Amino acid sequence: MLITKIKHPRHPLHQLKLELSLVPYICDGCKELGFETCYQCQICNFHLHKECAITSSSFYHRFFKGCEFKFYEESPRLGVRVCDGCWRDVRGFVYQCSHKKAYDLHPPCAKLPKTLAGEEVKLELKENIKSKCLKCQSRSNSNKGPKGWSYVSSCGKYCFHVACVKEMFYEAWEMGYFDQQKSDLDANTSGLAVALHRTVPSKLSSSTEIVQQSGGKAKHYWNMVASVLRLILFAIFDAQCVVSCLKTDSQAY
Ligand SMILES: [Zn+2]
Ligand SMILES: [Zn+2]
Ligand SMILES: [Zn+2]
Ligand SMILES: [Zn+2]
Ligand SMILES: [Zn+2]
Repeated sequence: MLITKIKHPRHPLHQLKLELSLVPYICDGCKELGFETCYQCQICNFHLHKECAITSSSFYHRFFKGCEFKFYEESPRLGVRVCDGCWRDVRGFVYQCSHKKAYDLHPPCAKLPKTLAGEEVKLELKENIKSKCLKCQSRSNSNKGPKGWSYVSSCGKYCFHVACVKEMFYEAWEMGYFDQQKSDLDANTSGLAVALHRTVPSKLSSSTEIVQQSGGKAKHYWNMVASVLRLILFAIFDAQCVVSCLKTDSQAY
């Protein structure tokens, strides 16, 4: 059950409402990009990821045995901290463990689903990968590419770092791909589905694996890559859940 209105100490003036932001936003908690799902105050243009608005005071994550993660509005440690999930800097809200060599997770990264199931493909979140990421062509343990977690298909063929999918989205956002308002779009099209179309092809066209294949096989491969990316993007932005919850909500009235 989702709470649709909250009071948050970061924004004491107004209540925050669980809504779909029509354009990408920067979360005022963790400072990471968000899209669609958020707790927002439209008057003040204040946004929080769902995971940043409602936090757990402490939790354990299956990838870090024996680490108790606690929530902080700012990292209590000095120096540059990096999220061990998406390998981007920590600049605000964070879960951190208390060990000397501490691990950090952005709140939305801490809640990334273990598995994602699409019609034709099932993905699993992994700390280390045997396949190469289709975006950066490297594995997580290489010292060239970004590190952090990846989603890998059960066949091992389709694999992306969470970091790389986020990076594609950030690039598309910086290029102004999302400046159009939702009203320009087909009302039934999810903003994220549109985002995917705008984000993916240009960023992956240089991928050798795609160039090597041709004809119908390439088309199938491409469709699979697109659905894999769609699943990961939806997980990162936690869109589907709230879209359906809000729909059921409005139908009730
Ligand atoms: Zn956030
Ligand atoms: Zn406000
Ligand atoms: Zn630890
Ligand atoms: Zn992260
Ligand atoms: Zn990668």
